[in-house]
Amino acid sequence: MRSLTILGATGSIGASTLDLVRRNRDAFRVVALTGHSNVAVLAALAREFAAEIAVIGDEALLPDLRAALAGSGIASAGGAGALIEAARRPADLTVAAIVGCAGLAPTMAAIEQGRTVALANKEALVSAGGVMTRAVAQHGTTLLPVDSEHNAIFQCLAGNDVAHVRWITLTASGGPFRDWPIERLAHATPAEAVRHPNWSMGAKISVDSATMMNKGLEFIEAWHLFPVGVERLRIIVHPQSIIHSMVEYRDGTTLAQLGPSDMRVPIASALAWPARMATPCEPLDLATIGTLTFRAPDEERFPATRLAREATLAGGAAAAVMNAANEVAVAAFLSGQIGFTQIVQCCEDVLACGLPSPPQSLEEVIAVDHEARVRAREGLELVI
Ligand code: NDP
Ligand code: MG
Repeated sequence: MRSLTILGATGSIGASTLDLVRRNRDAFRVVALTGHSNVAVLAALAREFAAEIAVIGDEALLPDLRAALAGSGIASAGGAGALIEAARRPADLTVAAIVGCAGLAPTMAAIEQGRTVALANKEALVSAGGVMTRAVAQHGTTLLPVDSEHNAIFQCLAGNDVAHVRWITLTASGGPFRDWPIERLAHATPAEAVRHPNWSMGAKISVDSATMMNKGLEFIEAWHLFPVGVERLRIIVHPQSIIHSMVEYRDGTTLAQLGPSDMRVPIASALAWPARMATPCEPLDLATIGTLTFRAPDEERFPATRLAREATLAGGAAAAVMNAANEVAVAAFLSGQIGFTQIVQCCEDVLACGLPSPPQSLEEVIAVDHEARVRAREGLELVI
């Protein structure tokens, strides 16, 4: 039996992870579950899985959490510091599934335990970059990618030497607007943006998929996880989302990982690694699917991948700045304060303001993130 902590248990990745745990109750003992605003779901999950502790990020909700857990014997805590404390509790495996840079400090705390971290929270790695990868190396932590593309690449690289890699190709669905005329994008609504054609996900990553900033963030994520160099990383649009990414070797062999568009597949791969576990997902029926298609990304319509590549090449604080601006802009779009095309424009504008010096520690990454958020809010003339 392995002990398991889930940071972001109340979200979409958290739910998929716990669905697998529910089907394998004998294999896992739950240590900590965290949420941010959803007290009722967090308390219900903590009771169902007999967690040691439930932690709510929004400290103001701690009294509600305490009330919801009364008589259960489950400990409770609240606030950003409590998330970090929860991540420090010994657990064989931590699933890092908080959305955004808010997950960075708890994810780093889990990494510093030197065990296994299954990473969904791509913004944390994009922002912290070398600060996180150095901590992984220093503490001997096993970092397993949960993001479907990176999990696919991880599987395609198994047993191979990255020195033989010619290309790593990230596949992208192209999102809900991949066939929209460019002039219509400015009028896209939040409801349209979160309606992803293939995947069911949280609101923020759904908007990122619509702008293709998700693929931009994933490009940077891949650059950190798989050291093949920026010139060996490519993106291809594959609308069916059946091939989750590919690795081509110098002998001309291409290995691809295929599967249904269900995050339980990559999550199961990380939960069971290096073994395998069953999932309830429908088997892949390629005869019914019939056709897999591919096309080059359209960076005129969706400039986010170009911006991310430029941020990778710029290095230093660029990725953290871009990520922070994107988080502010996506939140403003979802709350109806800005238009769809202003999201990536905001990232470009904040990057053009000039970059702070490269962050060398967690505290410096958080400071860079904070400063870029202020710039983004000023640039978008947001009230808060
Ligand atoms: P959701 O929005 O569904 O869930 C986010 C989780 O983070 C919730 O538990 C939420 O708590 C918590 N949270 C939100 N804000 C804070 C905060 N300020 N402090 C602490 N916790 C917070 O997101 P997803 O599950 O879709 O995504 C999670 C991460 O996984 C993201 O980084 C995303 O990019 C990545 N990912 C997701 C995929 C997917 O299919 N969903 C695929 C690949 C990667 P609460 O709900 O209680 O407010
Ligand atoms: Mg992905």
